[in-house]
Amino acid sequence: MDPVLNYIDGAFMAAQSGETLNTVNPATGDVITTLPRSSSKDVETATTAALRASSKWAATSMVERIQWLHRLADALEEDHETIARLESMDTGKPISLARRVDASRSVANFRFFAEFGEQHEEPTFSDHGAVNHVHRSPIGCVGLITPWNLPLYLLTWKVAPALLMGNTIVAKPSELSPLTAHHLANVMQRIGLPKGVFNLVHGLGPEVGQAIVEHPQIRGISFTGGTSTGKIVAATAAPMFKKISLELGGKNATVVLDDAPLDEIMDDLVRASFTNSGQVCLCGSRVLVDSSIYEDFKGRFVKAVGKIVIGDPTEESTTMGTVISKDHQQKVESYIRLGVEEGGKVLIGGTSSEAPVDNVPSEGAFLRPTVLEGLSHTARTATEEIFGPVVTLHSFDNEDEAVAMANATEYGLAGSVWTNDTQRGHAFGQRLDTGIVWVNTWLNRDLRTPFGGVKQSGVGREGGAWSLNFFSELTNICVLQP
Ligand code: NAD
Repeated sequence: MDPVLNYIDGAFMAAQSGETLNTVNPATGDVITTLPRSSSKDVETATTAALRASSKWAATSMVERIQWLHRLADALEEDHETIARLESMDTGKPISLARRVDASRSVANFRFFAEFGEQHEEPTFSDHGAVNHVHRSPIGCVGLITPWNLPLYLLTWKVAPALLMGNTIVAKPSELSPLTAHHLANVMQRIGLPKGVFNLVHGLGPEVGQAIVEHPQIRGISFTGGTSTGKIVAATAAPMFKKISLELGGKNATVVLDDAPLDEIMDDLVRASFTNSGQVCLCGSRVLVDSSIYEDFKGRFVKAVGKIVIGDPTEESTTMGTVISKDHQQKVESYIRLGVEEGGKVLIGGTSSEAPVDNVPSEGAFLRPTVLEGLSHTARTATEEIFGPVVTLHSFDNEDEAVAMANATEYGLAGSVWTNDTQRGHAFGQRLDTGIVWVNTWLNRDLRTPFGGVKQSGVGREGGAWSLNFFSELTNICVLQP
């Protein structure tokens, strides 16, 4: 495959230093291609291009920008299969998942914000003989920094509203999954988006990401990634009074109440636990179950987890591929060992040596889905983000205890509640300290709704009007009526 390159001012180029990194297929251990190991110099060039393009792009009408978003959605739709294949190769996720989630949602992000923009109206308020007009201006040049778990899905979730509101962009995808961002740059060039509006700089976080956050003329940063990186981003950006949106880690609870219809919900609970090998920030990695149904639940859940088909991500029948890398595999395995040290019992799965996956390359980062029980809900394994196919089971005696257990982490991204009684689920959901709660469903996303977390899961919300607010500055213009 051709090398991945930076995309700056409408042209593809290597890092100014000429240095490169490798991107590896986690299912085989093979190097797919190289990407630029860029530095602050490349960020400077990209930012200069973005600022140069800024006033012309900001002067385009909302209608024109909506047309660009539709063109982007159309182009990505044409490339749906290519995108799914690139994403699967770069991340080790099953091709079926890459099609259904990553490729489809990347199209949907552009389509959604195009249609949402069509409905957008700026409010006016009349009082004291004057009319107040709320005017939105673009921030200018914004920095978009994204992780590896849903590479194009999360990048386009930021690119679409940033463009819609008239901003120009310097983006940095994860160094572990650069292929689809590079493809997006190809699409931008193919459809003729004005040069400098979208710029992409590849490389390492502390080198490229940090340079974006530090750049004084990048006035807004939308970051999705881990909480520890988010702290660095916040500490860097806060004294510069930049607009920042932080979408960070999670340790989400899946709460199964005593009246939950176990037969009906088991497939959804397995999906909520193990989609993308548990590498979705919204996955429920702690399953809290009413003690009166715990044993029944446990038997059914473990049986359903055993049906997951682990193997070659290119096979249509595979339902779980690899984790992102060998390094990450080792991190997840260290948590499985920690869970056992903390008193947990492995019900299914285990480390790759204890529970090897058959007929896969030894260099592949495969792990079987692992379920542990018997841990305190305050154990490290049950409170720290593992971000892999590992779930802990816990039982509770009443709803108050379930709420206390669910809220007993530093994270507060999402949670789900499962019950026969939707009112009961709704009431329970209001007691969870999280930004998102699903009742009898999971990853059910209406893109108009606020998305984001509380506590160490982030600051701010994205989605619908919240994204439009983030990617614009408001000026209230108060006009005295004659
Ligand atoms: P990460 O924090 O290691 O990296 C995220 C991005 O930040 C990458 O592009 C990385 O290169 C860059 N980066 C690293 N150091 C930086 C620095 N000093 N300054 C600026 N950028 C820097 O996260 P990851 O391992 O790629 O992704 C996994 C994490 O992302 C998990 O914690 C997961 O929960 C979280 N996540 C959150 C959401 C959400 O919406 N809340 C969605 C997906 C993933």
